[in-house]
Amino acid sequence: MATDSVIKPDHAASGRHPIFTDEHDELRASIRSYVEKELAPHADEWEETTFPDSVFTRMGELGYLGLHYPEEYGGQGGDYATQIVLAEEMSRSHSGGLVMGVAVHTDMANPPLKLLGTHEQKLQYLVPALKGEKIACLGITEPGAGSDVAGIQTTAVRDGDEWVVNGSKLYITNGHRADYIVLVTKTDPDAGYGGFSLLLVDMDSPGVVREKRLEKLGMHASDTALLAFQDVRVPAENLLGEEGKGFYHIMWELQGERLIAAAGAVAAAERLMERTLDFARERQAFGRSIGKFQGIRWKFAEMATKIEAGRQMTYNTAWRVMQGEYPVREISMAKLYTSRMACEVADECLQIHGGAGYMKEYGIERAWRDLRLNRIGAGTDETLLEVIGRSYGL
Ligand SMILES: Cc1cc2nc3c(=O)[nH]c(=O)nc-3n(C[C@H](O)[C@H](O)[C@H](O)COP(=O)(O)OP(=O)(O)OC[C@H]3O[C@@H](n4cnc5c(N)ncnc54)[C@H](O)[C@@H]3O)c2cc1C
Repeated sequence: MATDSVIKPDHAASGRHPIFTDEHDELRASIRSYVEKELAPHADEWEETTFPDSVFTRMGELGYLGLHYPEEYGGQGGDYATQIVLAEEMSRSHSGGLVMGVAVHTDMANPPLKLLGTHEQKLQYLVPALKGEKIACLGITEPGAGSDVAGIQTTAVRDGDEWVVNGSKLYITNGHRADYIVLVTKTDPDAGYGGFSLLLVDMDSPGVVREKRLEKLGMHASDTALLAFQDVRVPAENLLGEEGKGFYHIMWELQGERLIAAAGAVAAAERLMERTLDFARERQAFGRSIGKFQGIRWKFAEMATKIEAGRQMTYNTAWRVMQGEYPVREISMAKLYTSRMACEVADECLQIHGGAGYMKEYGIERAWRDLRLNRIGAGTDETLLEVIGRSYGL
Protein backbone atom coordinates (compact mmCIF):
# COMPACT_ATOMS: atom_id res chain seq x y z
CA MET A 1 0.00 0.00 0.00
CA ALA A 2 1.40 3.43 -0.94
CA THR A 3 2.03 5.87 1.93
CA ASP A 4 -0.20 8.48 0.25
CA SER A 5 -3.23 6.20 0.47
CA VAL A 6 -3.03 5.95 4.26
CA ILE A 7 -2.69 9.65 4.98
CA LYS A 8 -6.35 10.56 4.42
CA PRO A 9 -9.22 8.43 5.74
CA ASP A 10 -11.32 7.04 2.92
CA HIS A 11 -14.76 8.29 3.99
CA ALA A 12 -16.01 8.91 0.46
CA ALA A 13 -15.30 5.45 -0.97
CA SER A 14 -18.39 3.67 -2.27
CA GLY A 15 -17.81 0.69 0.00
CA ARG A 16 -19.79 -1.50 -2.38
CA HIS A 17 -20.53 -4.86 -0.82
CA PRO A 18 -19.42 -7.96 -2.78
CA ILE A 19 -23.04 -9.03 -3.37
CA PHE A 20 -23.33 -6.12 -5.81
CA THR A 21 -21.79 -5.73 -9.27
CA ASP A 22 -21.69 -2.94 -11.87
CA GLU A 23 -25.04 -4.20 -13.18
CA HIS A 24 -26.58 -3.72 -9.74
CA ASP A 25 -25.19 -0.19 -9.65
CA GLU A 26 -26.82 0.54 -13.02
CA LEU A 27 -30.10 -0.90 -11.85
CA ARG A 28 -29.84 1.16 -8.66
CA ALA A 29 -29.31 4.35 -10.64
CA SER A 30 -32.36 3.73 -12.83
CA ILE A 31 -34.66 2.79 -9.93
CA ARG A 32 -33.41 5.82 -8.01
CA SER A 33 -34.18 8.13 -10.87
CA TYR A 34 -37.70 6.66 -11.22
CA VAL A 35 -38.42 6.83 -7.48
CA GLU A 36 -37.15 10.39 -7.11
CA LYS A 37 -38.95 11.69 -10.20
CA GLU A 38 -42.21 9.75 -10.18
CA LEU A 39 -42.89 8.64 -6.62
CA ALA A 40 -41.28 10.97 -4.06
CA PRO A 41 -43.09 14.11 -5.30
CA HIS A 42 -46.43 12.44 -4.42
CA ALA A 43 -45.54 11.26 -0.91
CA ASP A 44 -47.67 13.90 0.86
CA GLU A 45 -50.65 13.54 -1.48
CA TRP A 46 -50.70 9.72 -1.26
CA GLU A 47 -50.56 9.91 2.50
CA GLU A 48 -54.09 11.28 2.27
CA THR A 49 -55.45 9.23 -0.63
CA THR A 50 -53.32 6.02 -0.63
CA PHE A 51 -51.14 5.52 -3.68
CA PRO A 52 -52.83 4.80 -7.05
CA ASP A 53 -52.86 1.40 -8.77
CA SER A 54 -51.06 3.03 -11.70
CA VAL A 55 -47.83 2.72 -9.65
CA PHE A 56 -48.02 -1.03 -10.30
CA THR A 57 -48.55 -0.69 -14.04
CA ARG A 58 -45.71 1.82 -14.34
CA MET A 59 -43.35 -0.33 -12.29
CA GLY A 60 -44.39 -3.35 -14.36
CA GLU A 61 -43.63 -1.43 -17.55
CA LEU A 62 -40.16 -0.60 -16.20
CA GLY A 63 -39.54 -4.24 -15.22
CA TYR A 64 -39.24 -3.47 -11.49
CA LEU A 65 -41.96 -5.88 -10.36
CA GLY A 66 -40.13 -8.89 -11.74
CA LEU A 67 -36.45 -8.28 -11.04
CA HIS A 68 -35.86 -11.68 -9.43
CA TYR A 69 -38.49 -13.58 -11.43
CA PRO A 70 -37.95 -15.89 -14.42
CA GLU A 71 -37.81 -14.31 -17.87
CA GLU A 72 -40.16 -17.05 -19.09
CA TYR A 73 -42.98 -15.32 -17.18
CA GLY A 74 -41.98 -11.76 -17.97
CA GLY A 75 -39.46 -11.25 -15.18
CA GLN A 76 -35.92 -9.90 -15.49
CA GLY A 77 -34.17 -13.07 -14.36
CA GLY A 78 -31.97 -11.15 -11.89
CA ASP A 79 -30.41 -12.51 -8.72
CA TYR A 80 -31.62 -11.94 -5.17
CA ALA A 81 -29.44 -8.84 -4.79
CA THR A 82 -31.63 -7.07 -7.37
CA GLN A 83 -34.56 -7.35 -4.92
CA ILE A 84 -32.35 -5.83 -2.21
CA VAL A 85 -31.54 -2.93 -4.55
CA LEU A 86 -35.26 -2.35 -5.15
CA ALA A 87 -36.06 -2.44 -1.41
CA GLU A 88 -33.29 0.06 -0.72
CA GLU A 89 -34.11 2.49 -3.48
CA MET A 90 -37.85 2.49 -2.76
CA SER A 91 -36.96 4.19 0.55
CA ARG A 92 -36.30 7.35 -1.47
CA SER A 93 -40.05 7.68 -1.99
CA HIS A 94 -40.23 8.76 1.69
CA SER A 95 -43.51 6.90 1.95
CA GLY A 96 -43.48 3.76 4.06
CA GLY A 97 -47.01 2.92 2.96
CA LEU A 98 -46.07 2.93 -0.70
CA VAL A 99 -42.94 0.86 -0.05
CA MET A 100 -45.01 -1.70 1.84
CA GLY A 101 -47.82 -1.90 -0.73
CA VAL A 102 -45.33 -2.65 -3.50
CA ALA A 103 -43.25 -5.03 -1.36
CA VAL A 104 -46.32 -7.09 -0.50
CA HIS A 105 -46.69 -7.69 -4.24
CA THR A 106 -43.02 -8.25 -5.13
CA ASP A 107 -41.64 -9.91 -2.00
CA MET A 108 -44.52 -11.45 -0.06
CA ALA A 109 -47.48 -12.62 -2.14
CA ASN A 110 -45.74 -13.50 -5.40
CA PRO A 111 -42.60 -15.39 -4.28
CA PRO A 112 -44.70 -18.46 -3.28
CA LEU A 113 -46.27 -18.36 -6.74
CA LYS A 114 -42.80 -18.29 -8.30
CA LEU A 115 -41.54 -21.18 -6.16
CA LEU A 116 -44.63 -23.37 -5.96
CA GLY A 117 -46.95 -22.36 -8.78
CA THR A 118 -47.80 -24.64 -11.70
CA HIS A 119 -47.11 -23.41 -15.24
CA GLU A 120 -50.83 -22.64 -15.66
CA GLN A 121 -51.01 -20.72 -12.36
CA LYS A 122 -47.99 -18.68 -13.39
CA LEU A 123 -49.55 -17.87 -16.75
CA GLN A 124 -52.83 -16.88 -15.10
CA TYR A 125 -51.46 -14.89 -12.14
CA LEU A 126 -47.72 -14.28 -12.29
CA VAL A 127 -47.51 -13.00 -15.86
CA PRO A 128 -50.10 -10.20 -15.32
CA ALA A 129 -48.69 -9.56 -11.81
CA LEU A 130 -45.22 -8.83 -13.18
CA LYS A 131 -46.77 -6.42 -15.69
CA GLY A 132 -48.63 -4.70 -12.86
CA GLU A 133 -51.95 -5.62 -14.44
CA LYS A 134 -52.97 -7.81 -11.51
CA ILE A 135 -52.26 -6.81 -7.90
CA ALA A 136 -51.58 -9.39 -5.20
CA CYS A 137 -52.10 -9.55 -1.47
CA LEU A 138 -51.21 -12.14 1.15
CA GLY A 139 -53.65 -13.46 3.75
CA ILE A 140 -52.09 -14.99 6.84
CA THR A 141 -53.32 -12.96 9.84
CA GLU A 142 -56.81 -13.43 11.26
CA PRO A 143 -58.75 -11.81 14.09
CA GLY A 144 -57.80 -14.77 16.31
CA ALA A 145 -54.33 -15.62 14.98
CA GLY A 146 -51.33 -13.42 14.24
CA SER A 147 -47.98 -14.53 15.65
CA ASP A 148 -49.50 -17.95 16.25
CA VAL A 149 -49.85 -18.87 12.58
CA ALA A 150 -50.91 -22.41 13.49
CA GLY A 151 -53.99 -20.91 15.15
CA ILE A 152 -55.50 -19.98 11.78
CA GLN A 153 -59.20 -20.84 11.53
CA THR A 154 -60.06 -20.05 7.89
CA THR A 155 -61.15 -23.37 6.42
CA ALA A 156 -61.09 -24.77 2.90
CA VAL A 157 -63.21 -27.87 2.45
CA ARG A 158 -63.00 -29.94 -0.71
CA ASP A 159 -66.29 -30.29 -2.63
CA GLY A 160 -65.82 -32.06 -5.97
CA ASP A 161 -63.58 -29.94 -8.19
CA GLU A 162 -63.64 -27.00 -5.82
CA TRP A 163 -62.56 -25.79 -2.39
CA VAL A 164 -65.16 -23.99 -0.29
CA VAL A 165 -63.54 -21.30 1.83
CA ASN A 166 -64.94 -19.74 5.01
CA GLY A 167 -63.27 -17.41 7.47
CA SER A 168 -61.73 -13.96 7.75
CA LYS A 169 -58.36 -12.26 7.39
CA LEU A 170 -57.24 -9.12 9.20
CA TYR A 171 -54.79 -6.28 8.48
CA ILE A 172 -54.38 -7.32 4.85
CA THR A 173 -52.18 -4.87 2.94
CA ASN A 174 -53.50 -4.22 -0.61
CA GLY A 175 -56.68 -6.03 0.49
CA HIS A 176 -58.91 -3.38 -1.07
CA ARG A 177 -57.14 -3.10 -4.39
CA ALA A 178 -55.93 -6.67 -4.92
CA ASP A 179 -57.07 -8.90 -7.79
CA TYR A 180 -56.01 -12.08 -6.00
CA ILE A 181 -54.92 -13.26 -2.60
CA VAL A 182 -52.47 -15.95 -1.59
CA LEU A 183 -54.58 -17.36 1.21
CA VAL A 184 -53.49 -19.54 4.11
CA THR A 185 -56.28 -21.99 4.94
CA LYS A 186 -56.85 -24.98 7.13
CA THR A 187 -57.68 -28.00 4.99
CA ASP A 188 -57.41 -30.70 7.67
CA PRO A 189 -58.36 -29.61 11.21
CA ASP A 190 -56.92 -32.81 12.73
CA ALA A 191 -53.49 -32.73 11.10
CA GLY A 192 -51.74 -30.07 13.22
CA TYR A 193 -48.97 -28.31 11.27
CA GLY A 194 -49.73 -30.67 8.40
CA GLY A 195 -53.30 -29.39 8.09
CA PHE A 196 -52.71 -26.12 6.22
CA SER A 197 -52.76 -25.36 2.49
CA LEU A 198 -52.30 -22.27 0.33
CA LEU A 199 -54.95 -21.24 -2.19
CA LEU A 200 -54.92 -18.64 -4.94
CA VAL A 201 -58.26 -16.87 -4.63
CA ASP A 202 -59.66 -14.31 -7.07
CA MET A 203 -60.81 -11.34 -5.04
CA ASP A 204 -63.87 -10.84 -7.25
CA SER A 205 -65.16 -14.35 -6.45
CA PRO A 206 -68.70 -14.40 -5.01
CA GLY A 207 -68.47 -14.49 -1.19
CA VAL A 208 -65.26 -12.44 -0.86
CA VAL A 209 -66.20 -9.37 1.17
CA ARG A 210 -63.78 -6.46 1.53
CA GLU A 211 -65.22 -5.35 4.81
CA LYS A 212 -63.35 -2.46 6.30
CA ARG A 213 -60.66 0.00 5.29
CA LEU A 214 -58.73 0.02 8.58
CA GLU A 215 -57.46 3.28 10.10
CA LYS A 216 -53.90 3.10 11.40
CA LEU A 217 -51.01 4.94 13.12
CA GLY A 218 -48.79 5.09 10.04
CA MET A 219 -48.35 3.61 6.56
CA HIS A 220 -51.26 5.80 5.45
CA ALA A 221 -50.37 5.52 1.78
CA SER A 222 -51.23 1.80 1.89
CA ASP A 223 -54.67 0.25 2.23
CA THR A 224 -55.27 -2.28 5.00
CA ALA A 225 -58.32 -4.52 4.92
CA LEU A 226 -60.49 -6.76 6.99
CA LEU A 227 -61.65 -9.51 4.61
CA ALA A 228 -64.41 -12.08 4.96
CA PHE A 229 -64.72 -15.31 2.97
CA GLN A 230 -68.27 -16.66 2.91
CA ASP A 231 -68.67 -19.97 1.06
CA VAL A 232 -66.17 -18.85 -1.57
CA ARG A 233 -65.80 -21.52 -4.26
CA VAL A 234 -62.23 -21.87 -5.50
CA PRO A 235 -61.24 -24.23 -8.35
CA ALA A 236 -59.25 -27.24 -7.09
CA GLU A 237 -56.41 -26.34 -9.46
CA ASN A 238 -55.87 -23.12 -7.46
CA LEU A 239 -54.16 -25.06 -4.68
CA LEU A 240 -50.69 -23.48 -4.46
CA GLY A 241 -47.95 -25.94 -3.58
CA GLU A 242 -48.76 -29.16 -1.79
CA GLU A 243 -51.93 -29.87 0.13
CA GLY A 244 -51.05 -30.06 3.83
CA LYS A 245 -47.71 -28.23 3.37
CA GLY A 246 -49.13 -24.71 3.63
CA PHE A 247 -47.63 -24.01 7.05
CA TYR A 248 -44.12 -24.80 5.83
CA HIS A 249 -44.68 -22.93 2.56
CA ILE A 250 -45.69 -19.80 4.43
CA MET A 251 -42.78 -20.09 6.89
CA TRP A 252 -40.50 -20.11 3.83
CA GLU A 253 -42.31 -17.05 2.43
CA LEU A 254 -41.82 -15.20 5.72
CA GLN A 255 -38.02 -15.54 5.50
CA GLY A 256 -37.90 -13.59 2.22
CA GLU A 257 -40.34 -11.02 3.56
CA ARG A 258 -38.19 -10.54 6.68
CA LEU A 259 -34.92 -10.09 4.85
CA ILE A 260 -36.45 -7.55 2.50
CA ALA A 261 -37.95 -5.78 5.51
CA ALA A 262 -34.45 -5.65 7.01
CA ALA A 263 -33.00 -4.11 3.83
CA GLY A 264 -35.85 -1.58 3.76
CA ALA A 265 -35.36 -0.68 7.42
CA VAL A 266 -31.64 -0.03 6.96
CA ALA A 267 -32.31 2.13 3.90
CA ALA A 268 -35.10 4.06 5.63
CA ALA A 269 -32.84 4.72 8.62
CA GLU A 270 -30.09 5.91 6.31
CA ARG A 271 -32.46 8.30 4.46
CA LEU A 272 -33.57 9.74 7.80
CA MET A 273 -30.02 10.22 8.94
CA GLU A 274 -29.09 11.98 5.69
CA ARG A 275 -32.00 14.39 6.01
CA THR A 276 -31.20 14.99 9.65
CA LEU A 277 -27.53 15.65 8.85
CA ASP A 278 -28.63 18.40 6.46
CA PHE A 279 -30.84 19.83 9.16
CA ALA A 280 -28.09 19.65 11.82
CA ARG A 281 -25.67 21.47 9.52
CA GLU A 282 -28.12 24.30 8.87
CA ARG A 283 -29.97 24.75 12.15
CA GLN A 284 -28.28 27.34 14.33
CA ALA A 285 -28.41 27.50 18.12
CA PHE A 286 -26.12 29.30 20.57
CA GLY A 287 -24.16 30.77 17.69
CA ARG A 288 -23.28 27.59 15.82
CA SER A 289 -24.91 24.82 13.81
CA ILE A 290 -26.35 22.22 16.14
CA GLY A 291 -24.29 19.46 14.47
CA LYS A 292 -21.20 21.08 15.97
CA PHE A 293 -22.32 20.24 19.50
CA GLN A 294 -20.63 17.11 20.71
CA GLY A 295 -23.93 15.85 22.14
CA ILE A 296 -25.46 15.92 18.66
CA ARG A 297 -22.35 14.72 16.84
CA TRP A 298 -22.29 11.62 19.02
CA LYS A 299 -25.92 10.91 18.24
CA PHE A 300 -24.95 10.76 14.56
CA ALA A 301 -21.97 8.57 15.37
CA GLU A 302 -24.23 6.14 17.25
CA MET A 303 -26.85 6.12 14.49
CA ALA A 304 -24.30 5.64 11.71
CA THR A 305 -22.67 2.75 13.57
CA LYS A 306 -25.99 0.98 14.11
CA ILE A 307 -27.05 1.53 10.50
CA GLU A 308 -23.75 0.05 9.29
CA ALA A 309 -24.13 -2.95 11.62
CA GLY A 310 -27.66 -3.53 10.29
CA ARG A 311 -26.46 -3.24 6.72
CA GLN A 312 -23.66 -5.75 7.18
CA MET A 313 -26.01 -8.24 8.84
CA THR A 314 -28.50 -7.86 6.02
CA TYR A 315 -25.97 -8.11 3.20
CA ASN A 316 -24.15 -11.05 4.74
CA THR A 317 -27.41 -12.90 5.24
CA ALA A 318 -28.50 -12.06 1.68
CA TRP A 319 -25.17 -13.43 0.45
CA ARG A 320 -25.85 -16.69 2.29
CA VAL A 321 -29.30 -16.87 0.71
CA MET A 322 -27.66 -16.33 -2.67
CA GLN A 323 -25.35 -19.30 -1.94
CA GLY A 324 -28.45 -21.47 -1.60
CA GLU A 325 -28.53 -21.54 2.22
CA TYR A 326 -31.70 -21.19 4.30
CA PRO A 327 -30.31 -19.16 7.24
CA VAL A 328 -33.50 -18.71 9.26
CA ARG A 329 -31.68 -17.74 12.47
CA GLU A 330 -29.66 -14.97 10.81
CA ILE A 331 -32.65 -13.71 8.83
CA SER A 332 -34.55 -13.45 12.13
CA MET A 333 -31.61 -11.62 13.71
CA ALA A 334 -31.36 -9.19 10.81
CA LYS A 335 -35.10 -8.45 10.88
CA LEU A 336 -35.12 -8.03 14.67
CA TYR A 337 -32.04 -5.83 14.84
CA THR A 338 -32.81 -3.59 11.88
CA SER A 339 -36.44 -3.02 12.93
CA ARG A 340 -35.41 -1.89 16.39
CA MET A 341 -32.50 0.09 15.02
CA ALA A 342 -34.69 1.94 12.49
CA CYS A 343 -37.18 2.88 15.22
CA GLU A 344 -34.34 4.17 17.41
CA VAL A 345 -32.87 6.16 14.52
CA ALA A 346 -36.27 7.63 13.65
CA ASP A 347 -36.76 8.69 17.25
CA GLU A 348 -33.31 10.24 17.47
CA CYS A 349 -33.77 12.08 14.15
CA LEU A 350 -37.08 13.46 15.37
CA GLN A 351 -35.34 14.62 18.55
CA ILE A 352 -32.55 16.35 16.60
CA HIS A 353 -35.18 18.18 14.56
CA GLY A 354 -36.74 19.54 17.75
CA GLY A 355 -40.21 21.02 17.13
CA ALA A 356 -39.69 20.68 13.37
CA GLY A 357 -39.49 16.92 13.82
CA TYR A 358 -42.98 16.94 15.24
CA MET A 359 -44.37 18.91 12.28
CA LYS A 360 -45.77 17.19 9.21
CA GLU A 361 -43.91 19.38 6.75
CA TYR A 362 -40.51 17.78 7.45
CA GLY A 363 -41.68 14.18 6.89
CA ILE A 364 -39.74 12.95 9.92
CA GLU A 365 -42.87 12.31 11.98
CA ARG A 366 -44.27 10.22 9.11
CA ALA A 367 -41.17 8.01 9.03
CA TRP A 368 -41.31 7.72 12.83
CA ARG A 369 -44.91 6.46 12.58
CA ASP A 370 -44.34 4.27 9.52
CA LEU A 371 -41.25 2.54 10.88
CA ARG A 372 -42.98 1.50 14.07
CA LEU A 373 -44.71 -1.21 12.07
CA ASN A 374 -41.39 -2.94 11.38
CA ARG A 375 -41.33 -4.26 14.95
CA ILE A 376 -44.79 -5.82 14.47
CA GLY A 377 -45.35 -6.83 10.83
CA ALA A 378 -43.71 -9.89 9.24
CA GLY A 379 -43.07 -11.30 12.72
CA THR A 380 -43.02 -9.27 15.92
CA ASP A 381 -39.81 -8.72 17.88
CA GLU A 382 -41.00 -11.34 20.35
CA THR A 383 -41.74 -13.90 17.63
CA LEU A 384 -38.24 -13.41 16.24
CA LEU A 385 -36.66 -13.70 19.67
CA GLU A 386 -38.50 -17.03 20.00
CA VAL A 387 -37.18 -18.25 16.63
CA ILE A 388 -33.62 -17.22 17.52
CA GLY A 389 -33.78 -18.61 21.06
CA ARG A 390 -35.27 -21.92 19.95
CA SER A 391 -32.62 -22.28 17.24
CA TYR A 392 -30.18 -23.02 20.09
CA GLY A 393 -32.32 -25.96 21.18
CA LEU A 394 -33.91 -24.10 24.09
C1 LIG B 1 -50.27 -2.17 8.91
C2 LIG B 1 -50.23 -3.67 8.96
C3 LIG B 1 -50.15 -4.38 7.78
C4 LIG B 1 -50.17 -5.78 7.80
N1 LIG B 1 -50.19 -6.48 6.61
C5 LIG B 1 -50.42 -7.82 6.66
C6 LIG B 1 -50.66 -8.56 5.44
O1 LIG B 1 -50.60 -8.02 4.34
N2 LIG B 1 -50.94 -9.88 5.52
C7 LIG B 1 -51.01 -10.53 6.73
O2 LIG B 1 -51.29 -11.72 6.74
N3 LIG B 1 -50.78 -9.86 7.89
C8 LIG B 1 -50.51 -8.53 7.88
N4 LIG B 1 -50.29 -7.85 9.05
C9 LIG B 1 -50.38 -8.57 10.31
C10 LIG B 1 -49.08 -8.71 11.08
O3 LIG B 1 -48.23 -9.64 10.45
C11 LIG B 1 -49.48 -9.12 12.53
O4 LIG B 1 -50.05 -7.97 13.13
C12 LIG B 1 -48.32 -9.64 13.32
O5 LIG B 1 -47.89 -10.88 12.83
C13 LIG B 1 -48.69 -9.80 14.82
O6 LIG B 1 -49.87 -10.51 14.98
P1 LIG B 1 -51.04 -9.91 15.91
O7 LIG B 1 -51.27 -8.49 15.51
O8 LIG B 1 -52.19 -10.82 15.85
O9 LIG B 1 -50.44 -9.88 17.38
P2 LIG B 1 -50.45 -11.10 18.41
O10 LIG B 1 -49.89 -12.32 17.78
O11 LIG B 1 -51.78 -11.18 19.05
O12 LIG B 1 -49.39 -10.58 19.48
C14 LIG B 1 -49.69 -9.59 20.46
C15 LIG B 1 -48.43 -9.41 21.31
O13 LIG B 1 -48.09 -10.65 21.97
C16 LIG B 1 -46.76 -11.00 21.66
N5 LIG B 1 -46.62 -12.44 21.61
C17 LIG B 1 -47.34 -13.33 20.85
N6 LIG B 1 -46.87 -14.58 21.04
C18 LIG B 1 -45.84 -14.48 21.93
C19 LIG B 1 -44.93 -15.41 22.52
N7 LIG B 1 -44.98 -16.71 22.21
N8 LIG B 1 -44.01 -14.95 23.39
C20 LIG B 1 -43.94 -13.65 23.71
N9 LIG B 1 -44.75 -12.71 23.17
C21 LIG B 1 -45.68 -13.12 22.28
C22 LIG B 1 -46.50 -10.37 20.29
O14 LIG B 1 -45.13 -10.26 20.03
C23 LIG B 1 -47.20 -9.03 20.46
O15 LIG B 1 -46.38 -8.15 21.16
C24 LIG B 1 -50.22 -6.45 9.04
C25 LIG B 1 -50.26 -5.73 10.24
C26 LIG B 1 -50.28 -4.36 10.21
C27 LIG B 1 -50.36 -3.62 11.50
